Amino acid sequence: MIDIINKAKSEHDLTKDEIIFLLSCEDGSLIFKAADEIRKQYVGDEVHLRALIEFSNICRCNCVYCGLRSQNRDVERYRLSKKQILESAQKAADFGYKTIVLQSGEDVFFTADYLAEIIKEIKNLDVAVTLSIGERTFEEYKILKDAGADRFLLRIETTDKKLYEKCHPNANFENRVRCLRDLKKLGFETGTGCLVGLPEQTIESLADDILFFKDLDADMIGIGPLIVHPHTPLKDKPNGNFDLALRVMSLTRLLMPDINIPATTAMETLNPQGRIIALQSGANVVMPNLTDNDARIKYEIYPNKAGINYTELSEKLSQIGRTISCTKGFRGNKNSPLSLNPSPAGRGKNVNLARTLRKNMTPQETKFWNLVRNNQFQNIKFKRQYPIGPYIVDFIAIQHMLVVELDGGGHNTDSQQKYDIERAKYITSRGFKILRFWNNDIDNNIEGVFETISQTLRDSN
Ligand code: SAM
Ligand code: SF4
Repeated sequence: MIDIINKAKSEHDLTKDEIIFLLSCEDGSLIFKAADEIRKQYVGDEVHLRALIEFSNICRCNCVYCGLRSQNRDVERYRLSKKQILESAQKAADFGYKTIVLQSGEDVFFTADYLAEIIKEIKNLDVAVTLSIGERTFEEYKILKDAGADRFLLRIETTDKKLYEKCHPNANFENRVRCLRDLKKLGFETGTGCLVGLPEQTIESLADDILFFKDLDADMIGIGPLIVHPHTPLKDKPNGNFDLALRVMSLTRLLMPDINIPATTAMETLNPQGRIIALQSGANVVMPNLTDNDARIKYEIYPNKAGINYTELSEKLSQIGRTISCTKGFRGNKNSPLSLNPSPAGRGKNVNLARTLRKNMTPQETKFWNLVRNNQFQNIKFKRQYPIGPYIVDFIAIQHMLVVELDGGGHNTDSQQKYDIERAKYITSRGFKILRFWNNDIDNNIEGVFETISQTLRDSN
């Protein structure tokens, strides 16, 4: 188990079987601790607060778990006016929130054009805008993006297609995935996530969910345990399991170290300390609800939704050594080793390429990797095929700001040398030192290679 956790910590990659093992093992405490360490290393101690405004509980969908489903006649429906939404947004901005989350049922009254007007006004408050309004067409998402929306939350809920379609009558799994890919394409910081505890959901499918998040290169992941609503078809089912939801969240942090992960309200609803426990197990975001009381009680996706007392939260955060962020909190915090990459879109592409390269290493790269992996060399953490901006370096020791490159004969040509110079300029401009070795050195003088690395580290200390 420790080996798998260490692998997750250093490579941020696990096989499906390894994920299943960690989701099913008896005690999750080492997973939670590892996720907390990686959270600290990559996104720091700041907690980002996002102000949530639930502006309509009218929904055309009929999700079997949700109290807002269209067939629930026991809910009093409401829709905030544009003026009310803007007043809530102003209140949030005055309070110091840097992100406003507009969430609703799938309410077609709010056309993309109408929402665009609202978004443009909210953007004047110098805040980031996150939308959580369900499925729309590419063209509609584009209108929202062009109006200035920064982020979009759309949980996949489950990647088990059969289960998805059972839980979402008349909905289509492929369309859900299409929406998420469109959002990424349009440059939204894209959030997704899953519900833990759906009837018939398997550990295997939860492992698939985590792999899906990684494949999508999602920027935010919200994991919530299912909380049964008495006016839904799931009324006789048990709630989701807190520990399992926490594990899914922690493993997501281990595999996606630089993303934003909320400590969800559902976690706090299920466990009175759930939010703080989640923040100590990989989460770095909290979403206080700023919806006016009248509306808030009608936005009952599940019963007894936990609230947040701001003073209590800030006291609890300082007790656990965390601070409230005063930035908009986009992915790729300046201090994170992964912020070396340029735009979310560029990073996505490079991460995928890096993955492919890792699978196709040269014999010399494999030899070097086998000698440095798992901190074997002077306890230094090396990573391989690592994206820095538009480039991918062979090996990197981030803590020591050191890049190691292995060259074959192809680097002799003029054009390649020009490219290498530009590349080196870029990488050194980010504060890295580059050591280059010929494949021949790796084959015939590996001791010399390691001596040069040691000497360089000594010189820079
Ligand atoms: N209608 C939009 C959507 O579905 O994406 C946004 C609002 S919806 C209420 C936000 C999230 O609430 C959903 O993604 C779902 O996972 C969660 N949710 C709904 N019912 C729930 C329940 N009974 N227990 C836990 N989470 C629930
Ligand atoms: Fe509507 Fe969202 Fe609830 Fe589904 S989860 S019924 S889409 S509000």
